[in-house]
Amino acid sequence: MNVLVVATKNQGKISEIKKVLADMSFEVVSIGDIGIDIDVEEDGTTFEENSMKKAQEICKISNKIVIADDSGLEVDFLDGAPGIYSARFGDPEATDDDKNQKLLGMLEGVPFEKRTARFVCAIAVVFPDGKAFVVRDTCEGFIDFECKGNNGFGYDPIFYVPEYDKTMAQLDTDIKNKISHRAKALNKMAEKIKEYLPDTNCF
Ligand code: IMP
Repeated sequence: MNVLVVATKNQGKISEIKKVLADMSFEVVSIGDIGIDIDVEEDGTTFEENSMKKAQEICKISNKIVIADDSGLEVDFLDGAPGIYSARFGDPEATDDDKNQKLLGMLEGVPFEKRTARFVCAIAVVFPDGKAFVVRDTCEGFIDFECKGNNGFGYDPIFYVPEYDKTMAQLDTDIKNKISHRAKALNKMAEKIKEYLPDTNCF
């Protein structure tokens, strides 16, 4: 079976990717599974650049097909912040709740209609023969006025999804896994991998 490496140590991401690629004959493994333990510096200026850099570096080391993602939250009123810095927003020791409170503070007094935001996910796929592509998708919503809900992680408690009248953290995981930026980008990626496979010399 062809091995496909996911450039993450996050088991949640690995199992989400395994589900999306279930009908294709890949053995999906993490970098940890193949003994790679490096942190690629995310020094690009876009989600796309960061994901591509990660995938290319791991592909060079492993010589296997590699998938890498980069994601975050863009708030329009803050000119797209925290964006690519979503994981490092504020103090290095800041918890998810600290980051959410910081964002809520920066939006104090801003009316609902100006609190538009989106989760963004870019996923890069690099093949050992040099072929590569990146896909991107989003989940659109608003920044709520307070934290609500206990599911999910990160900015989920303050991200209001109008279609469900709930924050992401109030939604069932099954629903989040259908509408999320990551789920949508993963589905795009799976379709594109199918297009690339007949052309690639990897097998
Ligand atoms: P990563 O690129 O997946 O590591 O995500 C970077 C940061 O974006 C995370 O640390 C979270 O703060 C935020 N983020 C990404 N995806 C989500 C999500 O689905 N819910 C909430 N926060 C997210």
